[in-house]
Amino acid sequence: KTRNGHEPEFIQAVQEVAETVIPYIASNGIYKGKSILLRMVEPERLISFRVAWVDDKGKIHVNRGYRIQMNSAIGPYKGGLRFHPSVNASILKFLAFEQVFKNSLTTLPMGGGKGGSDFDPKGKSDDEVMRFCHAFMLELNRHIGPNTDVPAGDIGVGAREIGFLFGMYKKIRNEFTGVLTGKGLSWGGSKIRPEATGYGTVYFAQNMLKTKNNDVSGKTVVISGSGNVAQYAAEKVLQLGGKVVTMSDSSGFIHDKDGIDEDKLAFIMDLKNNKRGRIFEYVDTYSSATFHKGEKPWGVKCDIAFPCATQNELDLEHAKQLMKNGCICVVEGANMPSTADAIHAFHKAKILFAPGKASNAGGVATSGLEMSQNSLRISWTREEVDERLKGIMSDIHDSCIEFGKEDDGYCNYVKGANIAGFVKVADAMLAQGII
Ligand code: NDP
Repeated sequence: KTRNGHEPEFIQAVQEVAETVIPYIASNGIYKGKSILLRMVEPERLISFRVAWVDDKGKIHVNRGYRIQMNSAIGPYKGGLRFHPSVNASILKFLAFEQVFKNSLTTLPMGGGKGGSDFDPKGKSDDEVMRFCHAFMLELNRHIGPNTDVPAGDIGVGAREIGFLFGMYKKIRNEFTGVLTGKGLSWGGSKIRPEATGYGTVYFAQNMLKTKNNDVSGKTVVISGSGNVAQYAAEKVLQLGGKVVTMSDSSGFIHDKDGIDEDKLAFIMDLKNNKRGRIFEYVDTYSSATFHKGEKPWGVKCDIAFPCATQNELDLEHAKQLMKNGCICVVEGANMPSTADAIHAFHKAKILFAPGKASNAGGVATSGLEMSQNSLRISWTREEVDERLKGIMSDIHDSCIEFGKEDDGYCNYVKGANIAGFVKVADAMLAQGII
């Protein structure tokens, strides 16, 4: 806390892990007295750099770029890039720290990292985004590589940005390698990668519900966000027979009591991905829906909630509202969307709750599969990748049960994910010595 006191999101993420991992270390001799957690909270490397670029009117802008190389004990650093005005060292350190545990849970050989910039792609032309991405990669390229650090997308970084970043990396380094994931299908991308985080989150929910002899079919579902994760979580819920009634963005949420069906979801995908519009435009086309400006969707009655927008978007009051309305299962698609108080309330009420580091790990897992395909210079079919994704989500679920099941049979998925993620990284760190 003395060293990182000015970084609230990072402290929050570390505290959540420490609460469950410290008692585990205390009861497992091999980890005692080795300061493993102390080493894990210090990034192996934190890179911060200037990104200067020119807008369409010729004005020069300066943004701050980052790459946090958190832990490479079990593989090359791996984790997304976020472009959003709120980006700072605290937010990226919390994301990088979470990523270490998440990547460990996937069972694939990937260390943890995260990066990005306070650049805001909203309202920028394609050319401006391209110039920014090129300027960003001009510096980032010297710190990454297919065996060193393999970034991917996150908030504000989708297929368009990955394309521009990859183009500049290739130009500078004169090599065509799998240095980024989330690439286009014709130039090294993996099938199912765009869908993977959202699909994986819903697969994880299916595994959780199965422990209660239940499933997604017929359930009313509330989703926040309308970006990559939210869109594909909604698509999978529909495929499994659930009814999605909300989606949101930073302007507020829409509530469609008739349900957001396949056609309406296609409208949202076009609105957000191609037109880069705002979610309130939905109600101009669909009169069954209402728009709630500046609000979060957690007051809407539902059986299952998928927070898929951003950190700390679901607090204690929201948690109480959800449970009062009969919600039985909360599965995080975003990273750390629930505050610590909200999580404690879910645990106290013993409802099903999954932390993002377990339930949204399908995205990075499929990125890992993209890396494998790039190294082998092959391309798996959609069905092959989807099957592997399902298998990985089920394995992560099993690990959570193994380490998170309590005496009364309730599974604390936070505890399970933290300890299962910790053990693999800690064992590798012990084997590699004090470095
Ligand atoms: P996108 O940029 O595609 O979408 C983000 C969504 O969240 C948008 O609807 C956006 O609204 C909303 N949002 C962002 N910031 C805020 C905010 N401060 N307040 C309210 N709404 C906000 O990002 P992704 O879907 O990729 O990421 C969503 C979450 O999932 C993040 O937490 C990310 O770290 C996590 N995640 C993503 C993975 C991936 O594969 N993409 C993998 C694992 C986790 P608006 O359009 O108004 O900005």
